[in-house]
Amino acid sequence: QEQAVVHPELWPQASSPVGGDEAVESRVESLLAKMSLAEKVGQMMQAEIQSLEPGDVKKYHLGSVLNGGGSWPHRKENATVADWLALADQFYDESMDDSDGYVAIPVIWGTDAVHGHNNVIGATLFPQNIALGATRDPQLVRDIGAATAKAVRATGIDWAFAPTIAVARNYGWGRTYESYSEDPALVAQFSGEIVKGLQGEPGTDEFLSNEHVLASAKHFLGDGGTWQGDDQGDTRVSERELIDVHSAGYPPAINAGVQTVMSSFSSWQGEKMHGNKDLLTRVLKERMGFDGLVVGDWNGHGQVAGCTVSSCAQAINAGIDLVMVPNDWKALIKNTIAQVESGEISQARIDDAVRRILRVKVRTGIFEGKPSARALDASVLGSDAHRALARKAVRESLVLLKNQNHILPLLPQQRVMVVGPAAKDIGWQSGGWTITWQGTGNTNDKFPGATSIYEGIKRAVTAGDGTVTYSVDGSVSGGAKPDVAIAVFGERPYAEGVGDVASLELEPGDKPSLAMLQRLREQGIPVVSVFLSGRPMWVNPELNASDAFVAAWWPGSEGDGVADVLFADGSGQPRFHFNGRLSFSWPKTPLQTELNIGSDDYDPLFPLGYGLDYSNGQQGPDSNLPVDLDGVDTGELKDIDFYVGGPMQPWSLFVSHNDSRQVLSGAFAALSDKSVQVETADKDVQEDALDIRWKDANGARLYLQDGQPLDLTPYLENGTLAFDMKVDKLAKGGLTVGLDCGENCKR
Ligand code: BGC
Repeated sequence: QEQAVVHPELWPQASSPVGGDEAVESRVESLLAKMSLAEKVGQMMQAEIQSLEPGDVKKYHLGSVLNGGGSWPHRKENATVADWLALADQFYDESMDDSDGYVAIPVIWGTDAVHGHNNVIGATLFPQNIALGATRDPQLVRDIGAATAKAVRATGIDWAFAPTIAVARNYGWGRTYESYSEDPALVAQFSGEIVKGLQGEPGTDEFLSNEHVLASAKHFLGDGGTWQGDDQGDTRVSERELIDVHSAGYPPAINAGVQTVMSSFSSWQGEKMHGNKDLLTRVLKERMGFDGLVVGDWNGHGQVAGCTVSSCAQAINAGIDLVMVPNDWKALIKNTIAQVESGEISQARIDDAVRRILRVKVRTGIFEGKPSARALDASVLGSDAHRALARKAVRESLVLLKNQNHILPLLPQQRVMVVGPAAKDIGWQSGGWTITWQGTGNTNDKFPGATSIYEGIKRAVTAGDGTVTYSVDGSVSGGAKPDVAIAVFGERPYAEGVGDVASLELEPGDKPSLAMLQRLREQGIPVVSVFLSGRPMWVNPELNASDAFVAAWWPGSEGDGVADVLFADGSGQPRFHFNGRLSFSWPKTPLQTELNIGSDDYDPLFPLGYGLDYSNGQQGPDSNLPVDLDGVDTGELKDIDFYVGGPMQPWSLFVSHNDSRQVLSGAFAALSDKSVQVETADKDVQEDALDIRWKDANGARLYLQDGQPLDLTPYLENGTLAFDMKVDKLAKGGLTVGLDCGENCKR
């Protein structure tokens, strides 16, 4: 494949506000002048803490270490702050021992503190980035950066691998929640502020002081734009789109003084970013004036054509300065030295890389003393101030999608029933990158000081003399009928790779029972849904089955923030408003993973920026949702379901069979009289083309192409109006047709 052409002159310029400091530069040069090739190459390696003994830091002159997701000091899942500090001190001591004539340069430790210091027991966990995007509040994001930096500094670590400034464009991507928004303008608004929060204000004493850490803008470039949302996939967009959409956060981050940038696992036009000299060097370093260090991602260099994880001159030549090579660093050091000696990598490139690493280290102040001597007190983790900040962020990030009959705000003197296991599970509400890498398997004892959503509700209600009951499945015990039910449900945590999905429908096991929600409402108990997720999802059935619906994302450790907004004071006045506005468009159909914001076929259920509040009197547009289901009997689930509506066009159709869902590639056409013709290659139905016509307000009728009406019995299937068809030649034993008809079934 031919390499895509880059025109650096088309890219925006930026500049480091801390560049060109003579004291820093001369210190760097004097260190550099004393270093041997082996010391320089060692300086360019970042090893995982579990792959080495502290003595290796000295022996191999390692420049940096990291703890990957789910990796703790001494492999202790319950590592205390003292454990973190002790290991950091050991690394430091080894790197500063120059008794044998080697140059003393402190090793630097990087960690994924992406929503607070999320690997550490007892730390405050902030809402994930997707939730912060909904706050539209750059100052809040900056404050969160500053709080996170303090927490990291309490463990003796100087570097957070944050912020992710990806502009996620396909919600199938399992890292969508790490992105603030699909809107580049919003990402650009936040990126400089979060960097300043983490690193401090450049040009002042605050910059990289003991209360701050290095930030890492990641992942350069195009991580949020991969084909079909594949994690580590290929970003097949034009250079123009790469500039306008995906690079939007970088100039503000550089202007804010960001010191490190992490390369993306993804490719651009088929070429892995770790090997793309045009983008890493000509654009990022030269055009955008980035004078800090470029760190590779976890063995990302090994994915470059012609490379292995233990040998990759291409990545260093392309502009990777510090190679994240968790385990194979010994072999990579050896091979890199040989490549310099043979001329495959120039001495000048090595010097440039080491100069950048040293520059960042000198600016950071890690030469000034042991990690424990520079660390903040451990009490900062989970401090009242940090928890209050996180709670505020939760409040600001909630997006109200539906509030029929103004059911919200609730009165705190009511009898409230909380429903669903997610309500009591702090790991679940915190999402991925929490204690464990994927965020799974965490029990509540991993979160001392945190508040579940249930506990938050309980506090609000008991303060108002109301009562709270909990039911895992929504069953109401006789005589204890609540005034309202709050159902908490949604996606379970996940992180990289495994979070990728093709359909935005909830896993069957994570859906609340619609029959249960319906039963509650039939008993006159209104249902308020609190939806947890790392992305916008197709929840039309659940929306329909709820009186109010709140997108709460993964809010983190402060579940109180949810109750703050749901419950009014005793007189019914809201204590807080819903200020959250969608930073991602909300899909109308399960396969609508890309909403193509800005394009002519933009057709979301709720557009970017949507969000109701208590003051504007809106109740949420029901007209866009599937036809009203009230009064329709619940029926059996059938093998094959058809749904009208899909990502391709308003009238696409897809079939699901045993949980796997595919778009029918057969021809179909939207007809002007609100009917649709469907032809499918599916062997069960291939002889037939269906013609769906709108009959009346209650739904649809189906006709065979020859005009023969089908004998349909409407019923409710997963909240979607479905029809049982008794047509022998169509399917074995019946066919279910579900309709998701958008504008066309307005009541
Ligand atoms: C992720 C990065 C992360 C790194 C270190 C990689 O797999 O893509 O975002 O910073 O691991 O844990």
